Amino acid sequence: MSTTFEQFKKYLQQIQRYNQIQTLLYWDMKGQMPKEGFAGHSDALTYFSTEQFKLSTSQELKDYLVKLSQPEEFEKLDADWKFIVKLMKREFDRDERIPQDFYSAYVQEQAESAKAWEEAKRASDFTIFAPHLKKMIEMTKQRCAYTDPDKEVYDALLNDFEEGMDSATIDRLFGELKAALVPLVQKILAAKQPDDSKFHAFYSADDQRKVQEYLLSYIGFDWNRGTVGESEHPFTLNFSSQDVRVTNHYYEDNALSAMFSAIHEGGHAIFEQNVNPKLDGTVAGSCRYMGIHESQSRFYENILARNKNFWEPIYGDIQKLLPALEEVSLEEFYHEINHVRNGMIRTESDEVTYCFHIIIRYELEKAIFRDGVDVEELPAMWNAKMQEYLNITPANDAEGILQDMHWSDGSFGYFPSYLLGSIYDGMYLQQLEKEMGPVDDVLREGRIKEITKWLNEKIHQYGSTRRPKEVIEAVCHTEPTAEPLIRYFTNKYTELYNL
Ligand code: ZN
Repeated sequence: MSTTFEQFKKYLQQIQRYNQIQTLLYWDMKGQMPKEGFAGHSDALTYFSTEQFKLSTSQELKDYLVKLSQPEEFEKLDADWKFIVKLMKREFDRDERIPQDFYSAYVQEQAESAKAWEEAKRASDFTIFAPHLKKMIEMTKQRCAYTDPDKEVYDALLNDFEEGMDSATIDRLFGELKAALVPLVQKILAAKQPDDSKFHAFYSADDQRKVQEYLLSYIGFDWNRGTVGESEHPFTLNFSSQDVRVTNHYYEDNALSAMFSAIHEGGHAIFEQNVNPKLDGTVAGSCRYMGIHESQSRFYENILARNKNFWEPIYGDIQKLLPALEEVSLEEFYHEINHVRNGMIRTESDEVTYCFHIIIRYELEKAIFRDGVDVEELPAMWNAKMQEYLNITPANDAEGILQDMHWSDGSFGYFPSYLLGSIYDGMYLQQLEKEMGPVDDVLREGRIKEITKWLNEKIHQYGSTRRPKEVIEAVCHTEPTAEPLIRYFTNKYTELYNL
């Protein structure tokens, strides 16, 4: 092994230590920290992130990357390290093209815009946010002009969250989905809805914590390399493949929310726990592709856990843990966890209407970056599309266009990755059934860990070393297509709602 390579690896370890301490501070701030601890923690966080930024942009790192990219050094690396060096070099070159004063102004505007969004949402007044949104859009275009001068802006943004994905592909996928789902959802909404009255009960947070533990164990979460916490919004966080943590939030009048959050975050966590530890501490050691990541959490949450057979072997245990469910039959439970409601809020929506929340965001993002639509027109466009697809019009901007924070810090192009995740899921399901037989049987027989193992082998172990389209190609042997997801929705809801 070359000394440059050894030195480079040591240097990455140093960066990793700064990462580790920041992750720990963040974990503590979101959970355990008393209110008055905020100033001290955020001061320490700023210090460590500044130090890490210096290491990540140093001349020393650049020299390593340049040296290791020379053919005589590069050829000595194995495939994983070739991927890592190439990716880091490309990102280093990209970031270097951003002028320092522009970058500082951008970071400052991100913070101001995020604050304005919070205020606007609280007051339900889009005009408070509009000037900041306009500025974020302008600065985002400018940032892309520096980083990706050869790419169309919106394609560059999509590529940031799901590498290799572009709007031509997404137009096709979302177009197929929309054509099938508009009539399906209209039929579902016109059909008889399940009675949810038995679900309005008291579920203690303690009981729900036990359910979370049960479900995580059941799907294959590794407690030797993972732990749980609580926070306002559930999330997953990883130090390395050896330490992956999930949080949850318990509502004592609603047991389903925390159950499905547990499974969703569990899906993210199982992914991170099963990345090859050899990749720990590198840019490939965690999944950086949002669509692929979300495809794992949503596979567990929707494809598996919204299937009646998932619950067949364990529903009795769940009833013992949550006595209020003793009154509810498995059949009733199954209908309620698939209850389709045309609600306003994306994060509370069911798996079918969810698609429209994302399709609308995607159509608006294209209108912004491609058609140059005025910011002032966006709320009316949002409302018109909600009416067109879901027969509802938001009463105000807080439950309309202002509901999500993503645009406020400039995360344009993020939303589509959620739905790409579901589209991939339809494809995985089709492939899994080809290889393992009907998923209903596997689940009913309590063999879900075989599915987890299948995902570990096919997807998780590679971390980020396979890009999204390569993952799909390797697992499903085809180009991305929405057809399997459409078939899954159509079959499932035709039966559930007697359409
Ligand atoms: Zn997620």
